[in-house]
Amino acid sequence: MPPAGGRGPGMARFLSEEELENQPKVTPALLKRIFSYLWVYRFRFMLVLLCIVVSSFFTLLPSILTGKILDEGLLKKDLTALVNYILLSLLVTFLANLIGMVESYFNTWIAQHITYDMRNHMYGHLQEMSQSFFTTNNQGDIITRMTSDIDGVQSTITNTFSSILSNSVTLIIAMIAMFRKNWILALIGIVVVPLFTLPTRKAGKTRWSLTKESQECNDEINGILNETLSVSGQLLVKLFGKEKTEYERYEKVNHRMIDLNIKERMAGRWFFVVLTTFTSIGPMLIYLVGGILMIRHGSDLTVGDVTVMVALLGKMYMPINSLLNIKVDWVRSMALFTRIFDYFDIPVEIKNAPDAVIPEKVTGDVRFENVGFAYEEGHPILKNISFELKAGNSVAIVGPSGSGKSTIINLIPRLYDVGSGSVRFDGVDVRKLDLGFLRSRIGVVSQETYLFNGTIRDNLLYAKPDATQEEMIEALKKANIYEFVEKQEKGLDTMVGNRGLKLSGGEKQRISIARILLKNPTIFVFDEATSALDSISEQKIQEAIDPIINSHTSILIAHRLSTILAADEILVVKDGAIVERGQHKELVKQGGVYAELYETQFSKALEDDDGISELEEYIWGTQPADEPGE
Ligand code: ADP
Repeated sequence: MPPAGGRGPGMARFLSEEELENQPKVTPALLKRIFSYLWVYRFRFMLVLLCIVVSSFFTLLPSILTGKILDEGLLKKDLTALVNYILLSLLVTFLANLIGMVESYFNTWIAQHITYDMRNHMYGHLQEMSQSFFTTNNQGDIITRMTSDIDGVQSTITNTFSSILSNSVTLIIAMIAMFRKNWILALIGIVVVPLFTLPTRKAGKTRWSLTKESQECNDEINGILNETLSVSGQLLVKLFGKEKTEYERYEKVNHRMIDLNIKERMAGRWFFVVLTTFTSIGPMLIYLVGGILMIRHGSDLTVGDVTVMVALLGKMYMPINSLLNIKVDWVRSMALFTRIFDYFDIPVEIKNAPDAVIPEKVTGDVRFENVGFAYEEGHPILKNISFELKAGNSVAIVGPSGSGKSTIINLIPRLYDVGSGSVRFDGVDVRKLDLGFLRSRIGVVSQETYLFNGTIRDNLLYAKPDATQEEMIEALKKANIYEFVEKQEKGLDTMVGNRGLKLSGGEKQRISIARILLKNPTIFVFDEATSALDSISEQKIQEAIDPIINSHTSILIAHRLSTILAADEILVVKDGAIVERGQHKELVKQGGVYAELYETQFSKALEDDDGISELEEYIWGTQPADEPGE
């Protein structure tokens, strides 16, 4: 943010060094692109232009009428003319303001609609961005683009553009009127303009840099306070006996602050002295030269004419000052548009292929063929992953944290696209399938369960907007959470999400399982929570998941032995490659990565489990559940 120095009426404003360095390149293409947003509302814009011209003219007219009031009314002692000109002057002022109001209405209307268009465009575009966009960009930045950057566009249109227009028109009309009255006086008027603007800018610049400095000083003071008046900071100060040193440090900056404040205040005063002096030099010069022309040279200038010139000159100061400052607004506006357009130009990475298909029959086979993938170039995460999951079967993916398990499953609904090889759904490359169809066939229960702010019902309807009450209750029952929901005073209408009922991780997970059940996908994906759930929660989730695994095609990222055992095949992933695959018993016997994981993780889980003996028997083969008689 540039320092807020030098704002206010008549005050010169400047760009910060950072802004000067990063000035956007204003190309015809950029201007054309900005203009294309305006073009949609061109007729209203023409109306705004017309209003600006007329109201600028009407604003200047009373100054011109002052001459008539003096010459025709007062000096000629003509009461009728005097009253008429006064009434006309009042009427014109009223009309100028009325037209100004119409102008401001249409101006605001256009600005609001352009903002509306841009917001929709941006939101739609962001929705199309791949998951990697959201993981690599800071959420705060994304929201800033959506909110304050686009809000800035609105003020650019209502303030910057219209200020350039109306100030230029006012200046041109005033200048024409002055030259028509008397070119000598008009020239004098123009000559004094730099006299007025240069010192203003100089004073403004001084004040601006003082403000900047005092802001830095203020930051330093806050830093010291935060550092030394915190609990741990104080402890450090006391234990090292640094009270005096810290006091001196604080006192020094504090002193600098008051110096700066006094200087800044005085720079402001100095500015007003300069401003008022120079603004009165112009009129005085016009009176003087006008007087000389009238008295000595017999010019036909009237008292009214000279007064008009002075009045018109007075009307020129504000527009000139605004236009001199316009560069600041202009650069900021262009930077704003450039930032917004940069976002618009981020290509949509994952989109429907032009020849995308929606298969008529869905089986639910998933096949990975030599899949390679990297989030960032040069850092391969998955290497040559191949496996097949037949419809109706289940596969458990196990491996150390960071080995690429979640990445594998992210490739199925195309949250990311493979780098090499292919992921096939029913034999078709997922990149060739209609994206909406593909995602509708895959239900993911992830570790970080996200429930929207709203009721439990809202969250369930998100998956199936036309779900009936019975369907919802059935899904909740299957997800082992209905009892809990039923107990809530408002039942399905209980608010959840971060503004509602605080749910435990396990409860959230089970509601999200109900949501997936309503979605009714072909393939279920469970990214099992590693976070410590209490054993009752775990058991409840397990009871919900088990029947799903048994009856649907499913992929499980498993950390619990019971889940692993429920799968038809186990894939062991390490450093992005499948290093072992097979059944539990064989893998334990192999004494490889799986056996090690089993030793360190799963057997521990087993000890915590209530059903130890059954599992023990199964694992060690004394009485294998699926191979009786062995
Ligand atoms: P796992 O599920 O086995 O714990 P992940 O698939 O989440 O592993 O991650 C595999 C590797 O990819 C890790 O090294 C992780 O840091 C990296 N990774 C995960 N997501 C991203 C991302 N969005 N951008 C860059 N690197 C990522």
